[in-house]
This record gives sequence, structure tokens and C-alpha cells, in this order.
Amino acid sequence: MTAACLMSTYQPLSLSFARGLGSRLWDQAGREYLDAIAGVAVTGVGHSHPKVVQAISDQAGLLLHSSNLYDIHWQQQLANRLTRLAGMDRAFFNNSGAEANETALKLARLHGWHKGIEQPLVLVMQNAFHGRTLGTLAASDGPAVRLGYGQLPGDFLKLPFGDLRALESAIAEHGPRICAVLLEPIQGESGIHLAPTGYLKALRELCTRRNWLLMLDEIQSGIGRTGRWFACQHEGVVPDVMTLAKGLGNGIPIGACLARGKAAELFTPGSHGSTFGGNPLACRVACTVLEIIEEQGLLANAERQGARLLQRLREALQGHPELLEVRGLGLMIGIELRQVPRDLVQKVAREQGLLINVTRGQTIRLLPPLVIDEAEVEMIVQGLVRALNWR
Ligand SMILES: *Cc1c(COP(=O)(O)O)cnc(C)c1O
Repeated sequence: MTAACLMSTYQPLSLSFARGLGSRLWDQAGREYLDAIAGVAVTGVGHSHPKVVQAISDQAGLLLHSSNLYDIHWQQQLANRLTRLAGMDRAFFNNSGAEANETALKLARLHGWHKGIEQPLVLVMQNAFHGRTLGTLAASDGPAVRLGYGQLPGDFLKLPFGDLRALESAIAEHGPRICAVLLEPIQGESGIHLAPTGYLKALRELCTRRNWLLMLDEIQSGIGRTGRWFACQHEGVVPDVMTLAKGLGNGIPIGACLARGKAAELFTPGSHGSTFGGNPLACRVACTVLEIIEEQGLLANAERQGARLLQRLREALQGHPELLEVRGLGLMIGIELRQVPRDLVQKVAREQGLLINVTRGQTIRLLPPLVIDEAEVEMIVQGLVRALNWR
């Protein structure tokens, strides 16, 4: 039940968890659940991973915070590792995804300013989601999330996702004002929409040719979720700016904005900052998460189990009268139905002990932890088959 003294932003289920381990959660009554949403793509290496627990407790006993007025060893470590994995040059650390995207948007404006553009425009996509701050809201789509907030920053031009022809007409009309493109390689909140093959590559070439920044929001798709460190690596595309958050801290809040080449040189002392961003605790935990993903071979596991889950869902739900499409990459999977039955999420949790999510009222979204195994993949499939009254 929602407490009356909490602002009414979410409508949570009447379910509350007391503890978790790996891909499982236990509610207050001790009932076990299979977690196929991972706190919305956050707890990738699983709940209460012993190495994460150790890193948190060790660092808490040493130093939680000293501020960016001083060198922070773990921040430098994390910057080294992330930039190497992503093929980028420099990092700035934040506390959330929205903040990481705000950082990217500030880089875009600085880039436009250096190019001498008076009112720079950033190309963004229909159905995009980039966060809840006023700036990232302006870059996101959907009237519901914007209603009542008045005039938002106007530096965005919205394009249909994956449509190169629409891009050409935007250039014809606004070319000289454009300074950057911001997009999710796989749109998450809108229901797991993949860009058509070749789209990212075409954007990369265009950005290089026109001196625009290619800015990829990998907040949901990054840190191993799709079977690669970052979703853009499936296409061999390296952006100029990349944003990360969700899976990076496995539950400890952290965001990152990575940049490459000229984009990495835009900030100067005083031009951006954060009190908490890049603190020793969050950065040490994120380093540990990256280590765990490597040691446990979780990229390969995400790829293998993701492909299996996708295939098994397609087989098991084939012919279901409400089914429109099962799609995804790695462990980022959407099942689009004509209409998702009311209270499906509640019902699946209560009757199957399975935690899922529904986005935009039409798509069941699965974002299981990267540690999921074969038996658990089958539990998800069977749980959904039963919940959708199929076979
Ligand atoms: C979740 C998400 C964000 C926002 O992250 P917060 O940490 O909630 O601010 C931005 N972009 C994408 C693609 C996301 O999935």
C-alpha cells in the first residue's frame, strides 16, 4: 500500500521485498520470486553478490566521501576501465542516468557553441526516454511525462527512430543548426525497439562527416545487458559520447558520461561538477561489477540465455491470439500484445512467483539479471505461458 506521505509518482504493487540473492527475491512473508526485471536493468550481477557486499563494506569502513576537491583513486580506476571497454577517452561521473544525459546535453551545447551555432539543435528520436529532469524530459517523447511542466528547453528536433529518409529532410531544413544526435541504440522504456541494422553505422558516418556528436544513451542497454559491454558494439559503432547508469552500480546509484576525441576536451575546470558524483563507494562498487562480469563470463551468458529466452518465448507463445511480436537482443526482451491483460504483473507475481514489467500498456518487458541460468529461462517462459492462459 502506498503511504499517504509519499508523493504519488508511482503506483507500486502491494508487494515488498525483504532480501535478495542472485536472481531471487523474498517478500516480507518469506515467499520466493524469480526476478526477471532486475530492478529495471539494475542488478545485473544479481542481488547481494558476495563480492559487491564485500566491496561496499570494505569501502564503508575506509572512506565514503571526500569530494571532487581531491583525487579519488577508485574514480580514476573506474574511468580507466570504462573508457578502455568502450573505446572512449574520458569519463565524468554522476549519480543517475538523467544526470549522465544532462552531462551529455551540456557537451552538445558546448560543441555547438564552439562551432559558432547560435541556437544549436540536438536530434532525438520519437518514443525516446532519457530521464525526468527538465532537460532530459525535453529530449524524451510522450505527452504524459511532459504534461503540465510548461515550456521545456527547445533545442531538440524529434525524428522517427530508424528512419534515414526523415533524417535527410531534417538536414535539408535545419542542417546548419544541428550539433549532435542523442539516441538509445535499443529503446527500452518504449517497449524494446531495436534500430534497423545499419542505422547506427549510417548515423556514425553522418556525424563524422558533419562534425556532429553521436551521443548514445546506453543507460539501459549497456554493462552487458545485450551480451556485449555496450549495445553499439554489436554494430561496431563507437560514439563520441556515451551515457551509462542502471547496471553500472548493481543498485548503488551511479551514472557516467564517457566522451572521446574533441568531445572529451570540452569541459574545463568549473564548467561542470557534482558533489556526490564519482565518490569512492560508488566507483569501487562499479569496478567490482565490471570485474564480476569478466570473471563469471556474464557477457557470454547474457548472449546465450538471451537468445534462448527469445527463441523459447517465440515457440511457446506462437499462435497466441493477442501476440503481436517477441523481440529483443540479449537479455533485453519485449513481448508486444494487442492488449496486456489488466493486472498481469500482479497476477504473474502472485500465481507464478515471477517478477516482470509492462511498459506503455502493450509490451511485457523482461530484463533478467545477467546471471540467469537455463532452468530460470524456462521458469520465465512457463510462468508467462500459464499467466497468458496459453496451453
Ligand atoms: C532509466 C533510463 C534513464 C534515466 O535514468 P535515471 O537513473 O532514472 O535518471 C535514461 N535513459 C534510459 C535509456 C533509461 O533506460
